[in-house]
Amino acid sequence: MAVLKSEIRNEGMRIGGEIVFTDDVIPVHYPFTNEVVGSVPAGTAEHAKRAFEIAANYTPKLSRYERSQILRRTGELIGERRDYLARWLTLELGICHQHAIYETKRAQDVYLFAAQQALVDDGEIFSCDLTHNGKPRKIFTKREPVRAISAITPFNHPLNMVSHKIAPSIATNNCMVLKPTELTPLTAIALADILYEAGLPYEMLQIVTGWPKDIGEEMMVNENIDIVTFTGGVPVGKLIAAKAGYKRLALELGGNDPFIVCNDLSDEDLEKAATIAVAGAIGNSGQRCTAIKRILVQESVADRFVPMVLAKAKAVKFGDPQDPETELGCVIHAEAAELFEKRVFMAEKEGAKILYHPGRQGALLPPIVIDHVRHDSELVMEETFGPIVPIVRVPDDDTEVMRISNSTNFGLSSGVCTNDLNRAIAYINGLDVGTCNIWEQPGYRIEMSPFGGIKDSGNAVKEGVIEAMKFFTNVKTYSLPWP
Ligand code: NAD
Repeated sequence: MAVLKSEIRNEGMRIGGEIVFTDDVIPVHYPFTNEVVGSVPAGTAEHAKRAFEIAANYTPKLSRYERSQILRRTGELIGERRDYLARWLTLELGICHQHAIYETKRAQDVYLFAAQQALVDDGEIFSCDLTHNGKPRKIFTKREPVRAISAITPFNHPLNMVSHKIAPSIATNNCMVLKPTELTPLTAIALADILYEAGLPYEMLQIVTGWPKDIGEEMMVNENIDIVTFTGGVPVGKLIAAKAGYKRLALELGGNDPFIVCNDLSDEDLEKAATIAVAGAIGNSGQRCTAIKRILVQESVADRFVPMVLAKAKAVKFGDPQDPETELGCVIHAEAAELFEKRVFMAEKEGAKILYHPGRQGALLPPIVIDHVRHDSELVMEETFGPIVPIVRVPDDDTEVMRISNSTNFGLSSGVCTNDLNRAIAYINGLDVGTCNIWEQPGYRIEMSPFGGIKDSGNAVKEGVIEAMKFFTNVKTYSLPWP
């Protein structure tokens, strides 16, 4: 039994300080056993409308100090409730306990940085006596919150991704209505309660839940929304772009990030690269937008590199997500696992060689290692959102590697291993991506640094606490006589 009956969470929406239930509910499943571990209301457009009206009619009055204190306290509470939150991350998402703990720590960082940034006023001052047209005046800028922000979040980081929307919104005195995914909505609700406990006014964060067909459109078109911040897949992102009209949009979409291993590496360096490659492919069960989805290794070192990757993948303990020793748990559901496995078999038919695949059990996929994958195989051209370790052998010519790397529709992040600074710089300049990490996983970041993709991976609006705070505010310019 994965979850005790007494633990099952049948949650309500959080609208204007009330807990709102509906007759129809959406069940939440534990991917490892498929048992139902809780539910949320199947809310409708009416619920979203009410929440946006409450948000737009409320004017937050929190000082910078008060916002900072709420954010700081939230980070502390996440730390104090780490085990509870990690347990629910595992139960609703199926990732292993170790990955769940990591996510709680990332979320804490988000609140730590937002608490700091809430204290910073980035207003600018321009003297006006600078030219022959000068006047004895000064121009100043200040930031103001918007009426209401709509946030729509994906299933794969139920705590951290949601925090990347909420914390900058609070730091800028905004009111947000958040619709978490129907697949993993319970952590977002637990987080909202932590925020209220830390002192956040109910109007500044409301949570609505529902099936996309019932509530999705209202989250994009409601007249009180000034900003839609969306993280999720490309099709929904493009739908929002088509429907939301004049509203300001942040679209953080999918990826199929390359990890490039260059031919100047010693055996010791190749070992290091193999460690990064496997960790980057299986973190969060491969369900990170920035997970390593393609290992591009240059031909002349491939025969030395591939056995190292294989050994590291074989050493990964996959299985029961709740076992603290487990290093790789499940993907979101068995259908997803089945699709990814199907793509592996399709790549094999195209000539690739499966080196390690000890078998799938429902939503539990091992770290499947497959070599000689064609660079245009569906397995690596599409976003295969699971712990697959696909190796694509590429020519020793860096220009050609960049061409192959840039040949997909995505452009989120990338990782490159070389010890040659000139080559590193060439990759930083040549890859069509939002981020390029030398000697690191594509997913590496701190929660405050700018993050976001180009091409189909997003509209180049960055997240990260500082960028999101800028995005969530309007700059007002004002000027005064300055004799
Ligand atoms: P998804 O697009 O299926 O769903 C995302 C959200 O959109 C969910 O809340 C869902 O309920 C909602 N939604 C679905 N249909 C809708 C509709 N018609 N109208 C309004 N809302 C609708 O994505 P997912 O499968 O939950 O998440 C995985 C995807 O998210 C992957 O592609 C991953 O790469 C991406 N992602 C991107 C980033 C990033 O920062 N770029 C981060 C995490 C995840």
